Amino acid sequence: MPNRVHSKEVKEAALRKLAERGVQLEDIALIVYEMQSPYNTGLKLEMCLDSVKAVLEKRELQHAILVGIELDQLAEKKMLSEPLQSIVEADEGLFGCDETLALGSVFGYGSIAVTTFGHLDKHKIGIIKRLDTKAGKGVHTFLDDLVASIAASAASRIAHRLRDDEERSEQAGRASALPEENAG
Ligand code: MG
Repeated sequence: MPNRVHSKEVKEAALRKLAERGVQLEDIALIVYEMQSPYNTGLKLEMCLDSVKAVLEKRELQHAILVGIELDQLAEKKMLSEPLQSIVEADEGLFGCDETLALGSVFGYGSIAVTTFGHLDKHKIGIIKRLDTKAGKGVHTFLDDLVASIAASAASRIAHRLRDDEERSEQAGRASALPEENAG
């Protein structure tokens, strides 16, 4: 049986690849902030960064990052076979495998992650716009979608946590009101 790769190694490789490709986790946190701040008045950038780090713990996302960035890098070195080389290099609009790979990794975070991903794919916010292969140099056909999937997952995670926190404090509020009611 071949050696199993330790999950720590996979996580470190995924983070290293993002850094190598010029993506800082803070850049992704900024997108998360823009997506979630209208719904969460107390939201801090730091909370968005924590959420980005938390979703990057997921193996599914790490694997998608490794596969997608590898294909971008091979395309930059012109090492893919034709016609895939031309399709990835040109960021062909109808290709769709870049979106599919990235989208597949957000499902764990529910429908808010899916709709946020769609929004980011269409509007290309923040660093996603800078990464757009057609606009800049280098091949980022997969990377822009991967960044969108990380941001979408982190945004959805915050939305769900906010509701959990609200419900917890409502419950705590009701519990602390109880003795008075009883006294009355
Ligand atoms: Mg793309």
